[in-house]
Amino acid sequence: MSDPASFTDYYLRQIGVVTPLSEAGETQSDHSKSIPETVSEKVNLEDLARQAAGCTACALSRKRTQVVFGTGNPHADILFIGEAPGHDEDIKGEPFVGRAGKLLDGLLAALGFDRQSVYIMNVVKCRPPENRNPKPEEVQACSQWFDPQWDAIAPKIVCLLGRVAAQRVLQTEEPLTALRGKWHEYRGVPVWVTYHPAYLLRSPSQKSRVWADLRLLYRRYQSLMT
Ligand code: SF4
Repeated sequence: MSDPASFTDYYLRQIGVVTPLSEAGETQSDHSKSIPETVSEKVNLEDLARQAAGCTACALSRKRTQVVFGTGNPHADILFIGEAPGHDEDIKGEPFVGRAGKLLDGLLAALGFDRQSVYIMNVVKCRPPENRNPKPEEVQACSQWFDPQWDAIAPKIVCLLGRVAAQRVLQTEEPLTALRGKWHEYRGVPVWVTYHPAYLLRSPSQKSRVWADLRLLYRRYQSLMT
């Protein structure tokens, strides 16, 4: 696999995306320039994570194993946001580490990213019991971490994964299908919406749609980086 398109096709086959889609130059760029260079930027996010680790601002604190703050490049250009930690994330302390996380990793790899070149987080930092959706008051309580975290990362573009993240960030009750396929904005940053990887595990036929979404996200990302 000597050319970028081959890498993209390889990763897509690994995660079951069957759409032929690699377009040389669209994927597999060198994203190493996204790694932070200043210590102070990193410290701010670490300080925030340290403070959040002891948070008891909502009922989710009672049954969590630990706060799952976020992972990746603390000053990434591109930020991915899901809804809340699940069982595996609660145990490991990192977002998207179960089967859905592996699928997300595959999609990122097909775009030429890895976990160190992007940032991944959830709108709610503690696991809801039985993996239920977070309640509005829990989402609200966790905003005290969410917005400062967003500002500390200062992303240039954001991808919302699933309905809960999309409705929280965009402050709407519109269904995900109405939010996909158009650009939004939050805190001055372009925001794109697609399905949550966990949904793709239940509905694998939708993988090619998500890949199409991510290609459009990547095109906008590239235009912002030039
Ligand atoms: S979910 Fe957020 S607000 Fe609730 S206890 Fe955890 S960190 Fe605090």
